[in-house]
Amino acid sequence: MKNFNIALIPGDGIGSEVVSEGVKILKEIEEMDAAISFSFAEFPWGCEYYLEHGKMMADDGIEQLQPFDAIYLGAVGYPGVPDHISLRELLLQIRKGFDQYVNLRPITLLNPSLTPLKSKTEKDVDFLVIRENSEGEYSGAGDWLYKGKPEEVVLQTGVFSRKGTERIIRYAYEEARKSNRTLTSVSKANALNYSMVFWDEVFEEVGKEYPDVETYSYLVDAASLYFVAQPERFEVVVTSNLFGDILTDIGAAITGGLGLATGANVNPERNYPSMFEPVHGSAPDIAGKGIANPIAAIWSVSQMMDFFGEEKWGEAILSTIKTILKETEQLTPDLGGQGSTKSVGDRFVELLKDNR
Ligand code: ATP
Ligand code: MG
Repeated sequence: MKNFNIALIPGDGIGSEVVSEGVKILKEIEEMDAAISFSFAEFPWGCEYYLEHGKMMADDGIEQLQPFDAIYLGAVGYPGVPDHISLRELLLQIRKGFDQYVNLRPITLLNPSLTPLKSKTEKDVDFLVIRENSEGEYSGAGDWLYKGKPEEVVLQTGVFSRKGTERIIRYAYEEARKSNRTLTSVSKANALNYSMVFWDEVFEEVGKEYPDVETYSYLVDAASLYFVAQPERFEVVVTSNLFGDILTDIGAAITGGLGLATGANVNPERNYPSMFEPVHGSAPDIAGKGIANPIAAIWSVSQMMDFFGEEKWGEAILSTIKTILKETEQLTPDLGGQGSTKSVGDRFVELLKDNR
């Protein structure tokens, strides 16, 4: 019997609504698989906690999370708390504290009706974006000089270390080799004449160790165009923190929207817990209405199962998502249905039972 210890951070707005459905799926897996059990501990961190305590999470939050096998996060951020506080003090704190330097975002079209791209089908849109998750444009380094004066200047520095750049690119080559897919690096060396020139050099250098992997290198503007016009070009994509953030929102748009997009924040060495979360935020406009789409959060559970080495469950969840996406009427309003967060979760459990 394998027991996995999971820290739940439901967070704000629709975060807690969708995490409940994800937990439902985990409990169902436990029920159906005699070899697996889960234990859960819930942490009430987020913006409500901030408004009460003046901080997003406990001072020793990182130490409290350390013993867990995984963190399952809903979403953080709410009106009244500036976004840069909620993002930096919780999400980025955890990503950094646990050296989750790999962000894995599948861009997979599971039903042709979900894409706004004319004449593209599932086989055209099926790739993985590997986003650098620990430094780059998100380093937080910079300065604010002569604030409020006419000569005011603001600096925001991208930090690309040899170690940080090599390890993400190496991870991507390994992934491409393992799955026998092409690897595309996305950068912007023509405009960012230090960081991205370095990125391209490292991509080439590390590539010498992987002569079997077919590679491409695009500027981020061209890559944005291809994401929409020719997504079939991509199999595995590796890119920097900011470019990955932006590109994967395009990825979400071509595969069914934020209600379906998932991301894993991984520490590949497994020295620290990894974190699984839907890409979307707390969506204040629909929070409390019970209509948030839980499928992104459920897809995160699939990624978590893969990470635990329980790929059969990862695949079972994914194929159940494919099945449920055919039942348009039963889905949440963002996908044109009349279902609720809870009814989709309940239906999912039924289908998963049939699917195993
Ligand atoms: P945050 O600041 O927390 O990122 P946000 O409003 O900027 O919040 P999101 O929460 O990511 O951005 O969502 C943008 C919009 O997309 C929401 O307002 C909502 O209408 C829609 N949306 C996001 N996630 C979902 C979901 N799971 N189900 C349905 N609609 C969603
Ligand atoms: Mg947002």
